[in-house]
Amino acid sequence: MARFNRILLKLSGESLMGKQSYGIDPERLADYARQIKEIHEMGIQIGIVIGGGNIFRGLTGSQKGFDRVKGDQMGMCATVINSLALSSALGAIGVKTKVLTAIRMEPIGEFYSKWKAIEALENGYVCIFSAGTGSPYFTTDTGSSLRGIEIEADVMLKGTRVDGVYTADPEKDPQAEKFTKITYKEVLQRGLKVMDLTAICMCQDNHLPIYVFNMDVVGNLKKVLDGEEIGTLVY
Ligand code: UDP
Repeated sequence: MARFNRILLKLSGESLMGKQSYGIDPERLADYARQIKEIHEMGIQIGIVIGGGNIFRGLTGSQKGFDRVKGDQMGMCATVINSLALSSALGAIGVKTKVLTAIRMEPIGEFYSKWKAIEALENGYVCIFSAGTGSPYFTTDTGSSLRGIEIEADVMLKGTRVDGVYTADPEKDPQAEKFTKITYKEVLQRGLKVMDLTAICMCQDNHLPIYVFNMDVVGNLKKVLDGEEIGTLVY
């Protein structure tokens, strides 16, 4: 028995780049798709939010002269591109998906609603929630907290390139301490980098635990569902 029934998986756009410096690495995408298929076959209901940082970030754009709101809208479009890519990779290996968008853009994806999402999840579709919250000045961390809470997920699984939450960047500081479990309060007090503050506070207020793990190691997603303690639980 898996330890969670319904999950919200958050993937950053940057991790889709793999070894590239921009865009989507088809091998990484296929790796992710296979890992998602593996847990889908266990009967887990899966909602996914992907970032857009591999293509465009509004804040970075505004530092280069773009209007902030238009830049954020470009960033939200980038999340739609990544969502379509993942939907295509999942479809290619026989997993049914539904891309829901926070901004109306049929026929690219259906306009999001909580009830549409839950019905699709219950019918065995992997739901990919794209365009973040639909509003500028937010991030996909906020978007994934929001969707995780709305779909009543048991947990948000944050797939990153490190295997959990550390006191410092483990690649730069060999002394960095890893947590296996940590409370939201401690994360906030210590200023640890898990998600943006709005996202953390939303999860805390709505009792959505976050599990941070390394998604780049193939097989890790299943290990998390099987109950192996390979990452950090923020609760
Ligand atoms: N974005 C936004 N509102 C949202 C979600 C995202 O404006 O609700 C924009 C914002 O410009 C952000 C970009 O989309 O920089 C890409 O998302 P994010 O930076 O969260 O991607 P990640 O870092 O996860 O790849």
